[in-house]
Amino acid sequence: MILILEPNIDKSGSLYLHLLDALRRLPNIQIRTHEEHGVQQVLTELYLIGDTAALNIDDIRELPGVERVVRISQEYRVLGRHRDEKRSTHFEYNGVAFSQDNLNIFAGLCAVDTPEHVEAMMKALRDHGQVCTRMGAYKPRTNPYSFQGHGKSCLPYVFELAGKYGIKVIAMEVTHESHVHEIAEALEKTGQPTGVMLQIGTRNTQNFELLKIVGRQQTYPVLLKRGFGITLEESLNAAEYLASEGNRKVIFGLRGMKSHFGEPHRNMVDFAHIPVIKRLTRMPVCIDPSHSVGSRAQAPDGLLDLHHAVAQGVIAGANMILVDFHPAPATALVDGPQALLLEELPHFLEDVAIARQAYEQRCRLAKQYQFI
Ligand code: PEP
Ligand code: MN
Repeated sequence: MILILEPNIDKSGSLYLHLLDALRRLPNIQIRTHEEHGVQQVLTELYLIGDTAALNIDDIRELPGVERVVRISQEYRVLGRHRDEKRSTHFEYNGVAFSQDNLNIFAGLCAVDTPEHVEAMMKALRDHGQVCTRMGAYKPRTNPYSFQGHGKSCLPYVFELAGKYGIKVIAMEVTHESHVHEIAEALEKTGQPTGVMLQIGTRNTQNFELLKIVGRQQTYPVLLKRGFGITLEESLNAAEYLASEGNRKVIFGLRGMKSHFGEPHRNMVDFAHIPVIKRLTRMPVCIDPSHSVGSRAQAPDGLLDLHHAVAQGVIAGANMILVDFHPAPATALVDGPQALLLEELPHFLEDVAIARQAYEQRCRLAKQYQFI
């Protein structure tokens, strides 16, 4: 059961203390507190865990400071959308807003290779009004002899260049607790010139210990990729691990499923699941067309399969795009064949804008017909 309290309730005031007092007297019930920081107000939510079936919802609603009570299903307690309730999980990080209602683009390098390439990428982003990027420093590779990423050695110049070009959020995969510390340390040493969104890759979606560690910190938001060989429910539960540990700034990423039926794409594109995730949870949904499609194959209409996949995701309401670009893909150390070129960035952005406008128009149309 979730108790949504009156906005901006004073945690040291008598109203709140009376409420807690009353709740603590309930038998076999534990209380967990969560705060939602919205644009205009702070919403405090109390999660009652335990024998809630025995509670009378009307009695709870009458308690001081309680605005609304929601009975929740067992599934995705924190991130879930319970009985169609309309709460959003808008969050802001380093000046960038994330929600199920907007769209952020994270174009960048799959793997950091040289400072020159990082700089060329960030300059192109700045020149086209972008404030987010992706930069892989720790690369989980199938083959142990493949390039594993530059790791912590590249972080200082990546962060400094981000600061120089006004990049506010960098999506960066971590595969171990030490990576989170290394990122924090490098940000500190360089004077916090940018922000980082920790990415949990598809190979680690069910690495529960990593999820708990990343979930316990609340400094960085988290992009959790869907596991490529597990059910959607299992991946959503993995996201809930992060939230249950305290970090609700979670974005759920679709990146295609491992299946021979997807060939000749690298993975079976699964962007039709965007509305499903939005219905089941309140997480913003990210699409990764690069790791789903996996090539620069072109359709007869002149558009790349990659462009088509992006448009399919955006027109279905995607909230974030994680996409590989590279200034010189032939020299890229990871995933060169699927990278878009810097010269292709303006085309990409315009194409995304068309799909986004179409999505917004579709939502207006749906509303219009609902009133008839
Ligand atoms: C990536 O985004 O660089 C990546 C490795 O993605 P995934 O975990 O989806 O394979
Ligand atoms: Mn990659």
